[in-house]
Amino acid sequence: MARAASADIVPERPRLEEPSGREAELFRGLPNGRVQCTACARVCQIGEGQVGFCGIRGVVGGRLYLLDYGKIMAAHIDPIEKKPVVHYRPGSKILSVATSGCSWACRFCQNYDISQRRQPDGVEQSPENIASLAVGYGCEGVAYTYNQPSVFIEYARDVGKLARAKGLFNIFVSNGYDTPEAVGVMGDFLDCITVDFKGSGEVGFVRRYISIPSADPIFQSMLEMRDKTKIHIEVTDLVVPTVGDSLEAAEKLCRWLYDNLGPDVPLHFLRFHPDYKMMDLPQTPVATLEKHVEVGRKAGLNYVYIGNVPGHPDESTYCPGCHKVLIKRFGYEVLAYNLDDRNRCTFCGYATPIVGPLSKSHAEERFVSVIN
Ligand code: SF4
Repeated sequence: MARAASADIVPERPRLEEPSGREAELFRGLPNGRVQCTACARVCQIGEGQVGFCGIRGVVGGRLYLLDYGKIMAAHIDPIEKKPVVHYRPGSKILSVATSGCSWACRFCQNYDISQRRQPDGVEQSPENIASLAVGYGCEGVAYTYNQPSVFIEYARDVGKLARAKGLFNIFVSNGYDTPEAVGVMGDFLDCITVDFKGSGEVGFVRRYISIPSADPIFQSMLEMRDKTKIHIEVTDLVVPTVGDSLEAAEKLCRWLYDNLGPDVPLHFLRFHPDYKMMDLPQTPVATLEKHVEVGRKAGLNYVYIGNVPGHPDESTYCPGCHKVLIKRFGYEVLAYNLDDRNRCTFCGYATPIVGPLSKSHAEERFVSVIN
């Protein structure tokens, strides 16, 4: 597995003297006396009193702690389409939660105030509280999102198991930069994941703008999920104008998806907007996104979408059989649903892989801030 070339601890942090949160479970001891965290593909080697790259996992007394276990930076009710997830329980209302910290350092992160906060922070919320909050607000699922969820995986797992016991589903919005150990934990409670590429995972782009040596671990994680879990997978690719919009890189990604996950994996090409340390680039031109969609369809993928361009025709789902609209969308809204009770096209009977039915929630207000 590719290892981070740069320092994988937060260097300027004061030495940790006291543990907080809860002991982590994904780690191994090393002969050099350090502890290696195995929650993400950085696999940081952490010395006494240090924290890993994410800033929320640290070693005290020779033991690794998830320092912000039970601390929430944000909780919102969202449409599932915002994740984006469009082939799993369409129209659902979900509770989105996040802690601080992240395994990546994207220069364009739109949630940088949460993800790049390299220390534990937030409001105390036990797993029981989060699961009850989701039920109380009438949500059908819980999403672990805004920052990379594998860095707080033990907390997510505890919330997720309780949520499942209450009949809810669980979603990770993830960079996919994971380990077999983390995927093993996901298999215990996760129903759905969006794996978010940026710049199609092209190596020059990910080194310069994300601070990872390569995207290889993301592909390895998707194979682990395919082979060892039943998690529904959707894939996104953020197309960053001029620096992360290579059609060759997109084609390579699409071919890999087709060969390894099959023609029915949903792929979303997302529009970039300037944020954080990358305010100098414009939004991705729609014509660029359309060229990427063409590449995906030529590679044989049946469901290729454009995201972050409300009103674009490629927000909707089309039947691979008769090419009529199966699910018509505007932004996160579902405007028409032409699938029968077995998720076949109502025009031609084509059997789709969409996991339904359409939730009644799609007609409700699905944007509510709970904790922010
Ligand atoms: S979860 Fe954090 S501490 Fe663990 S390997 Fe990843 S960045 Fe390092």
